Amino acid sequence: MIKNDTLTIAAVASAMSDAGIGIIRISGERAITVADRYYRNKKGIRDLKSHGANTIRFGRFCDEEGKVLDEILISVMKAPYTYTGEDVVEVNCHGGTLVLQEVLQVLVQDPDCRLAQPGEFTKRAFLNGRIDLSQATAVMDLISAKNRFALENANRQLSGELKEKVLAMRQKILHETAFIEAALDDPDNYDLEGYGARLQKTLSMLISEVDDLLRHAKEGQIRKEGISTAIIGRPNAGKSSLFNRLLQTERAIVTDIAGTTRDTIEETVRLGDILLKLIDTAGIRSTQDEIEQLGVARSKAVAEEADLILYVADRTQEFDETDIQTITDAMKNKKLILLLNKSDLSGENRLDAEALRAQFPQLIVVETTMTGENAQDGLEDLKQAIAELFFSGALTPPEELFLTNTRQREAFSSANAALKQVAESIENGMSEDFFTVDLMGAYAALGEIIGEEVEDDLVDKIFSDFCMGK
Ligand code: GDP
Repeated sequence: MIKNDTLTIAAVASAMSDAGIGIIRISGERAITVADRYYRNKKGIRDLKSHGANTIRFGRFCDEEGKVLDEILISVMKAPYTYTGEDVVEVNCHGGTLVLQEVLQVLVQDPDCRLAQPGEFTKRAFLNGRIDLSQATAVMDLISAKNRFALENANRQLSGELKEKVLAMRQKILHETAFIEAALDDPDNYDLEGYGARLQKTLSMLISEVDDLLRHAKEGQIRKEGISTAIIGRPNAGKSSLFNRLLQTERAIVTDIAGTTRDTIEETVRLGDILLKLIDTAGIRSTQDEIEQLGVARSKAVAEEADLILYVADRTQEFDETDIQTITDAMKNKKLILLLNKSDLSGENRLDAEALRAQFPQLIVVETTMTGENAQDGLEDLKQAIAELFFSGALTPPEELFLTNTRQREAFSSANAALKQVAESIENGMSEDFFTVDLMGAYAALGEIIGEEVEDDLVDKIFSDFCMGK
């Protein structure tokens, strides 16, 4: 038997639910041998080993006793030009959950095959050098993409755009380090005169490139994961109604975080291509059935966490001190949109949008109606206002690649810190051998992004976040 970690692996690669087809992927040195034990062609003959690379054929999948479990299409892909870099066999079964379970069961009971761990196919692709870590991360981003932007960004990263960027930066750093080392070893042939100024130029180019990436990263994150949004306002203003409206627009993505209380339910709603990650929706809901309404202290705490505050006001009620205080406080360091709700109602003291805009010049005011016939009124304006605030008007495909991953951001940050340290050493007139230490620090930090300098357990951890069969 082969060593456990290189043993052939198998898993259901499609969703485990009733569907037209379901795919089981087998990868490893013995993928073809293992599959051959259970595949019969339409004449009932075992002939998988004679199938050429990149072929797909009809046949049957049988258990150990030769009992037919399913009619299948089987494809054979041979190393090294496969997803994992190993031999890969994919079995297209009928998509019933039981069929898939039975077929998989037969495979994983084979002494030469075991069940794949989550992400293990992609991990093997990485370990076999088919893709780097930034591309592996992109695979996960692609699968979990919730809007077109995230999809496009993931595809760019998957094609190797980030990897190329990182490789080019590392190349420059290595070149400088090698030059310094050579000059220190062989001063007769390499002259360090004026070198500090030359190095400063390279450094400032590298630093500004990394700065750009980091600056855009926050936008990338909110494009991909959603703008964390708090809905606050006085009781009865229409917060729950807004929440319900948002939930009804297109598809709401509701994620229950297992093992936690209702308070941490995270709900993401989509306004066109804009995602809003609503915070503390449990708090909003509880106002409907609890006597105690959302307290001011609590609204403040919720608002603290948010990137965007939607302040809902019942426009038939005059503003009181608390409204004004909360809005002015929040606007100091947050993006806030005031929703003048219940616009369908008339009344003497109706809050006037223009007057408020005059009173608070920075304030964005949207007039809304959340119930009744005109219940969609204002949602389009709200979407536009959010697009103005966060995406300079429209969520257009970005020109730059965005970093959407915390690990990548941290690695770029530490690379930048090391590069800035070199620049500082030059300014302080330090000797050249000081430069190389920090240059190599930056080199190593950048290596983490493409997976050149990562420990095995980190690799395991990264891939364990993947879904099964990927
Ligand atoms: P919350 O306490 O801020 O969550 O407010 P709710 O969403 O529960 O709304 C309070 C009341 O106002 C409910 O009876 C809603 O039906 C009503 N309401 C909410 N929005 C509107 C609106 O735009 N127009 C009218 N006429 N009533 C509204």
